[in-house]
Order: sequence, then C-alpha cells, then structure tokens
Amino acid sequence: MREFVGYCSCCGVEVYCEDGFFNGLHVDGVLLCASCIGETKLEEVQQF
Ligand SMILES: [Zn+2]
Repeated sequence: MREFVGYCSCCGVEVYCEDGFFNGLHVDGVLLCASCIGETKLEEVQQF
C-alpha cells in the first residue's frame, strides 16, 4: 500500500506513506521528505 501524501516543501519530491510508514515529516502544513529531514532547518522552510 502506497499513499501519496504531497510534495516536499524543500526539494519538491513526492512524499509517500508506505504500509503505514510515513517517509517524511509533516508539521504545521510543511511537508519534508526523508532526505531533507535533518538537512533543512524547519524554521527556514516555514518562512515560505
Ligand atoms: Zn525534500
């Protein structure tokens, strides 16, 4: 089961929820993919 969640707010890649496992981060309407988590400061993304 693979469910499309949305696009990463940082790099624009598609983020999916696979078998109940969300391979990204979704906070306050900001969506980040797995590769951007840790590399991007959430504070900077929220400025958009
Ligand atoms: Zn990303």
